[in-house]
Amino acid sequence: MARYTGPRCRICRREGTKLFLKGDRCYSDKCAFERRSYAPGQHGQARIKVSDYGIRLREKQRVRKMYGMQEAQFRRYFDWADRKKGVTGTNLLAFLERRLDNVVYRLGFAESRVQARQLVTHGHFLVNGRKVNIPSFLVKVGDVIEVAEKSRSAAPIKSAQESVARRGVPEWLELDFDAFKGSVKAMPERGHITMPIQEQLIVEFYSK
Ligand code: SF4
Repeated sequence: MARYTGPRCRICRREGTKLFLKGDRCYSDKCAFERRSYAPGQHGQARIKVSDYGIRLREKQRVRKMYGMQEAQFRRYFDWADRKKGVTGTNLLAFLERRLDNVVYRLGFAESRVQARQLVTHGHFLVNGRKVNIPSFLVKVGDVIEVAEKSRSAAPIKSAQESVARRGVPEWLELDFDAFKGSVKAMPERGHITMPIQEQLIVEFYSK
């Protein structure tokens, strides 16, 4: 699966918000968005009137980039969410939250989703006792996610664990910090997702 390898801070500046793509640096005064909170490029500071289409496009891009996904994959999640019973926007966010790379990040085993994705791909995590190295693996209620025994002393996991207190663990997950383990208590609901996301705009974007 292709992935974006360009400068990450540029994405935050493009989307006009902090997407927390770089771990610790995002909370420090080195954050590029804190220093230059305007779009990158020659016309980044120009005043541009954004159309209704542009507003919906930007919201979709912002959420897609927040979860580090390519367009085709994100669109596939939208189609699944649309086919599922319930509110499409909420279904979409629930699918995104249930991805293994996101869960690893949420549990504090990685400093960012980008890092979580890499750690998962490198086989550092078990789900219900079996190695899973697919970042898009969708967890379900009752699943137990743990750091593989041999990886518990790995520097990135150790340092990420130290910063989990700052982010907190969402209500639908449970963390056993000392056992390097987390479990899924419930399916993620809209109320559990505290990031400022207007999912209705994404639904409108794809439904045009
Ligand atoms: Fe975004 Fe983090 Fe870079 Fe700040 S440091 S611009 S939040 S990726």
